[in-house]
Amino acid sequence: MRYFSTRDTRREHAYSLKESAFLGLAPDGGLFMPEFIPQADMDEVLRLAQKSFADMAQYLTSLFFGDEVEKEELDTLVRDVFSFPCPLVRTDSDDYALELFHGPTCAFKDFGARFMGGMLGLLKKQEKNERLVVLTATSGDTGSAVAAGFHNVAGIDVVVLYPNEKVSHLQESQMTTLGNNIHPIRIDGTFDDCQALVKQLFNDTAFRARCAITSANSINLLRWIPQAFYYFYGWSQWHLQTGLSTPDIVIPSGNYGNATAGMLAAQMGMPVKRFIVASNANDVVPKYLASGVYTPQASVHTIANAMDVGAPSNFERLTYLFQHDFERISSAIQGFACTDEDIRGAIRKLYESCGYISDPHSACGWLAAQHYHTQGFRLCTAHAAKFHETIRETIGIEPPIPETLGRAMQREKRFTPMPNDAQALKDFILRLE
Ligand SMILES: *Cc1c(COP(=O)(O)O)cnc(C)c1O
Repeated sequence: MRYFSTRDTRREHAYSLKESAFLGLAPDGGLFMPEFIPQADMDEVLRLAQKSFADMAQYLTSLFFGDEVEKEELDTLVRDVFSFPCPLVRTDSDDYALELFHGPTCAFKDFGARFMGGMLGLLKKQEKNERLVVLTATSGDTGSAVAAGFHNVAGIDVVVLYPNEKVSHLQESQMTTLGNNIHPIRIDGTFDDCQALVKQLFNDTAFRARCAITSANSINLLRWIPQAFYYFYGWSQWHLQTGLSTPDIVIPSGNYGNATAGMLAAQMGMPVKRFIVASNANDVVPKYLASGVYTPQASVHTIANAMDVGAPSNFERLTYLFQHDFERISSAIQGFACTDEDIRGAIRKLYESCGYISDPHSACGWLAAQHYHTQGFRLCTAHAAKFHETIRETIGIEPPIPETLGRAMQREKRFTPMPNDAQALKDFILRLE
């Protein structure tokens, strides 16, 4: 399989898997896409999904990566990476929730981050020479998923920058208690400062000549493609539980990596009636779906903060998947937006009506499902315990903390405090060798 940039309309530059994975973003500023979309045999998917998520994922992985990586290695990796449950839970008569938060950091990002960590490790091994440094900035959730997903991967060091404010105790614990090849750095500044530092290093050709760095953000195709797999798994369970075959699928969205991976699954042959993308007050995509006009905005802070994105980086993938045909896009996808008050209302209602404790992001999805009277399933992106302050304020109870989160909170935090200074960061990275 070769990969092309979304902006390379004439397909002049083909990239290998390794090139696209190490680059992250294409040099022309576009996002990498596979040269064709492989077709999945849904009977096979259904048969394998009944064995396990990993059995099904081995089949889907081979459709994309079968040429570059040996089957045995790929199969072992998939089995290691997708080793946690992914249940479709019926909360009441017609609400089906696909819980994607049973991985090590309790958010759906574990699927993509763990797969990417394992695959980069394999691709790196084929080269044998230098180390690779994964450099990433985080406001909380991405950093913890990437740190956990890359922990102990040979040949790779992970440097995670996070701001000294606004990261919760829980998020900081998840990033700073792993050790070994994970190097958390607490920057004396904001999340934007952290992002600016990362950008500065990526644009520094002299530095990049001395040290191989890559990013692990959500546009990387090794994070994006595996997110299609849980849609197939959700579809299989929903089909088995209801006997129906064309679901509405609701996706709480921010950067639209998750949503566009669902659209990839549909183009691979998974039947879907319509996609519903649910946002908080950051509603540029719902506005686009209603009007055909895309206007990125500055993000606004909400209680579903992992979706506080004003210029979604995967938007280009969305339009690309539909050949920029707005008519096709607007008939396949419907948008929904809600306020913090709506979200709190939904958390209360879900708890009161069926005792289900929802995190704020998944609650946006529930509201969207209610609004559109969907028949299908909705994706739940995080465990409620990750947002326990909001849950406590809203329904007055403390959600039970899953074992993995509890363990992280008890370990000692280790991080490097650093001023907002590119030279200090470069020195730190060069000293890792
Ligand atoms: C990252 C995240 C989202 C948004 O996913 P995108 O792929 O960026 O649209 C939603 N919910 C939670 C809990 C997240 O961590």
